[in-house]
Amino acid sequence: MTQPSGDSAATFRAVLNLEARSGFPNRAVIGGLDRFVARWISQDSSGHDFLLSHPRLKALLVGSPSYAERSIDERRAWVEEVLRELDRAELSTEIKARAVNAPLQKTRAASRKVETSVVPVKSLELPACEIKGVGETVAARLGKLGVVSIRDLLYFFPRRFMDFSRRCTVSALEAGKEQTIFVDVWEARQVMLGRMKSSEAVLADETGSIRAVWFNQPWVAKQLKVNTKIAVSGRVSEFNYGRVFENPEWEIIEDRELLHTGRMVPVYPLTGGLFPRQVRALVRNALDEYLASLQEFLPPAVRQRCELMDLRDAVMQAHYPSDYASQNRARQRLAFDELFLLQIGVLNKKRDWQEEQPGRGFQIKREDIRGFIDALPFKLTSAQLRVIDEICQDLQREVPMSRLLQGDVGSGKTVVATVALLCAVANGCQGALMAPTEILAEQHFTTLQKLLSAISKESSQESNICLFKGILGREISVVLLTGSLSAGDKTATHGLIRRGSVDIVVGTHALVQKEVKFASLGLAVIDEQHRFGVLQRSALKQKGYNPHLLVMTATPIPRTLALTLFGDLDISTIDEMPVGRHPIKTRWLKPDDRQRAYNFIRKQAAEGHQSFIICPLIEESESLDVKAAVAEYERLSSEVFPDLRLGLLHGRMKNADKDSVMRDFKDGRLDILVSTSVVEVGIDVPNATVMLVEAADRFGLSQLHQFRGRVGRGESQSYCILLSENPSEYGQERLKAIEEMTDGFALAEKDLELRGPGEFFGTRQSGLPDLKMARLSDTRLLEMARKEARIIFEKDPGLSTAENGLLALEYHRIWHKSIENN
Ligand code: ADP
Ligand code: MG
Repeated sequence: MTQPSGDSAATFRAVLNLEARSGFPNRAVIGGLDRFVARWISQDSSGHDFLLSHPRLKALLVGSPSYAERSIDERRAWVEEVLRELDRAELSTEIKARAVNAPLQKTRAASRKVETSVVPVKSLELPACEIKGVGETVAARLGKLGVVSIRDLLYFFPRRFMDFSRRCTVSALEAGKEQTIFVDVWEARQVMLGRMKSSEAVLADETGSIRAVWFNQPWVAKQLKVNTKIAVSGRVSEFNYGRVFENPEWEIIEDRELLHTGRMVPVYPLTGGLFPRQVRALVRNALDEYLASLQEFLPPAVRQRCELMDLRDAVMQAHYPSDYASQNRARQRLAFDELFLLQIGVLNKKRDWQEEQPGRGFQIKREDIRGFIDALPFKLTSAQLRVIDEICQDLQREVPMSRLLQGDVGSGKTVVATVALLCAVANGCQGALMAPTEILAEQHFTTLQKLLSAISKESSQESNICLFKGILGREISVVLLTGSLSAGDKTATHGLIRRGSVDIVVGTHALVQKEVKFASLGLAVIDEQHRFGVLQRSALKQKGYNPHLLVMTATPIPRTLALTLFGDLDISTIDEMPVGRHPIKTRWLKPDDRQRAYNFIRKQAAEGHQSFIICPLIEESESLDVKAAVAEYERLSSEVFPDLRLGLLHGRMKNADKDSVMRDFKDGRLDILVSTSVVEVGIDVPNATVMLVEAADRFGLSQLHQFRGRVGRGESQSYCILLSENPSEYGQERLKAIEEMTDGFALAEKDLELRGPGEFFGTRQSGLPDLKMARLSDTRLLEMARKEARIIFEKDPGLSTAENGLLALEYHRIWHKSIENN
């Protein structure tokens, strides 16, 4: 089969795009489109062959009415349809060619290869410096904003818009409103305004004249030649000597579209050395030259069902919208893409975990579980019972469980995990419980010991191994495996685990990453903060295990976010606290009250209690954080609490040093722990009663809530004190929220609402693609994306059919990028 030479198809495409850009006037080529198409069909013999194998395209090209007879809307629809069919035609040719060479695979190499060969017109993966106006320096600055390729530039969306679409005459200008005028420059000169070299101009149309000033921008006067026609957009201020445009946007009116005035004008994120006008121009150049090469990858059926805008239109409208309504539709389309691709990805991951090899379905005896629960020294909450039930359902199935257990600090997740571990043991399997740090592993070991002793007839401990008699009608062994064991003990323990003589192993995540071999690993419980088992899961897989998996987290994740980011995990939530906990008293103090806060800490210390002091978060630089924490620690030790015992904890310390400071604090050898935000992890110090957070407005709500969860773990009333120098409006709103709300989930929702998903939970940390356009408050869009992803995935899980070819490319691009970033 032949295809029109790349040139011929590219020209056709260029003509159609030009026609589209200029609003479908039928003037993109001399003589009109009908004649061009007729020529293209008849003269290009290769085009003719090509059409024979693409009847749909042919029907479009030879059908009636003619282009000239169509209305603008019909022309638009026709052009879009033809472009789409061209895509499809070229793609199917491409897919066939590719099927010979390499079937579409999940490997990165394969997707790369496909990517470069499939782009029919121009490659969007070229570096941004291909764009007019982007030299090396500018490219480097764009790089800081994450813009490397031309595609990145097309997807570099504005933060907001200035609405300059209201055009009026000079005489009709109203003070205080955003407006645009088209005027002649009558006069322009440099002036001193205050101490600043500035510019001033007199501008006029047929209805009158007005003054404009640009503070601190002397160069504007030089650019404004007398008698040029310019568009000026901005706000007019009224003074008693008359009306003035202050620092308006302006541009010379030429034969091209306006960029900076007279419309909705994009405002892009900037970095040092980049300027608004410059970035607008660059993006515009990229759009003009490359938008036509952007391929629609959503199958038409999906677009139709969800009523989504075409991709090129959406990208164009996201930068230069005709109005707010189209901007919103564009955002919807692009947000849909993000959510949809994310959903396909998580479905894929879930299948990877569950389908490659069947796991082991456990036999679960209700009476075993009942016996354990009844023997506990406390009554489980109904949330705990419900979650235990959800987990047991999963464990009975052969498909390995893949479940996220979330619950606020202290909600009793470990008990739940213990029940699950016992189910594994009852089925002759081993269970592993893993934590991010040694201290947390020890803590889990202690909790497990406490719980199992409660139900055991007799227990004994020998170094790192505990034995419990009379559980499940036999003796159960639990071992703690940490780096601090002697080499001899370590080897011995490894041997026991390998031979299957140990039932439950508690340790750090290194358990699955290092030399340890399990005889029969039936359940892995992973307790951690952020990465949600991504690494551990692949480590487990690599070692050939396929156990049930339970991931625990104390970071409450709002449902929408959980579904979006962790759709590959089923979710169980403990949303209820055991009875009888004292709520922690939270106070937001003014900076003047700092001394009072210190006095309070001193009083608590006198009563034998301990305190945390969290140092300010210094954005973007861990090393600055550390420096600030060290300085604060020194100041507090020498000036404020010279008589108390202080410790310091920060992220640049070696793990062993961190552990030893934490241990000193836990065992009561320190009164105050000064720390950066690293203390967030679930350490349990029942004797600590005060959490003081400096510059609290800089932390997110979920994080503040995590800090607060470090206290209130014991009998005594606990306190959380928030200090903040000069919080922004947002900051104040957050501080009020944390002062008033105690429910972690409600706070998480609020956090998401205030800060958006990117901030809430650095997606980079979770190993998932970024969300730029999607707002998680948009549940309707999310549900739609989930539904569509499932439909596609069920029919074509490998995205290997021709109709999903472009989708497959986009999918690999997005996901591989996110993997590379991790
Ligand atoms: P999490 O891991 O969710 O922060 P833990 O499982 O460590 O919480 O439980 C915190 C403490 O509460 C433990 O000492 C545990 O024994 C206790 N606990 C758990 N569930 C209950 C309950 N239903 N009633 C009373 N105390 C409970
Ligand atoms: Mg815990």
